[in-house]
Amino acid sequence: MLNESDPQSILQLNSPITLTNVIQDVANLTACDVIGDIHGCYEELVDLLRLLGHSDLLRRDLPIASPDAPPLLLFVGDIVDRGDRIMDSLRLVHDLCTKGYARMVFGNHDYRFFRWLQGDDVKIAHGLEQTIAEFNQMPSEQREVWRTQLLTFFESLPYAIRFDSGRGIVVHAAWRPRMKEEIDLRRVRYYAIYGPTTGDLTPQGFPERVDWASTYKGPEFAIFGHQVYLRPYNTPYAVGIDTGCVFGGGLTALRYPSRELVSVKSRSARAAYNGPMLDPNGD
Ligand code: MN
Repeated sequence: MLNESDPQSILQLNSPITLTNVIQDVANLTACDVIGDIHGCYEELVDLLRLLGHSDLLRRDLPIASPDAPPLLLFVGDIVDRGDRIMDSLRLVHDLCTKGYARMVFGNHDYRFFRWLQGDDVKIAHGLEQTIAEFNQMPSEQREVWRTQLLTFFESLPYAIRFDSGRGIVVHAAWRPRMKEEIDLRRVRYYAIYGPTTGDLTPQGFPERVDWASTYKGPEFAIFGHQVYLRPYNTPYAVGIDTGCVFGGGLTALRYPSRELVSVKSRSARAAYNGPMLDPNGD
């Protein structure tokens, strides 16, 4: 029996954590909206959810979803860092997930914040400083409750979500079919949240990324974020939906199964972009 006032009861909606469920299956999820990298752009997240017809999900008194109902939303991760309303964004996504309306996969930024919460020595850069500042500004009692909720939530997150009887897959950065047979969690995690890299560094000092989606041939239809594009990167088997909202671009959703792309414009750039912002239709 689910009890809304008991977070432990709510969280039992998520399966227990084992190495084999780093890739979660939601076979009965046949229609959903997949949301790109938010990075603390709370206002645009609200704009996008309204545009998609999900205003109901913004109600403060949103009840817990029926346990049999598949989620309505999937998030590609990177909720935190760089933006101006990081905790509001994270609270909304956390609540939608724990109430059964959404699921998310880890992004590299979420994962780094998770490690910081656990007390690991992580480099405080690339926007993590804003996340920590917002977190530390909370009244201490409220903050410690939130810390516990966040740790429980992050511990439950997968690195990939397969849905629609295996036809679709959501990952933060990259997917390869043989990942589901791999048992080395670190390799799966690295590939899913950072994607393949050449081993070289860009002139700005970032690992040079490989355009894996251009040669990816399925079988799953893959939806991902992480790499910022001027417009969604659309290939037959994979769609990249990070259109750089926090850098002044837009926040994009892919509606599955129609593959319609829905975007809202960024209200303002909160950070300067210093990586390659690719135009997938520019060549
Ligand atoms: Mn990102």
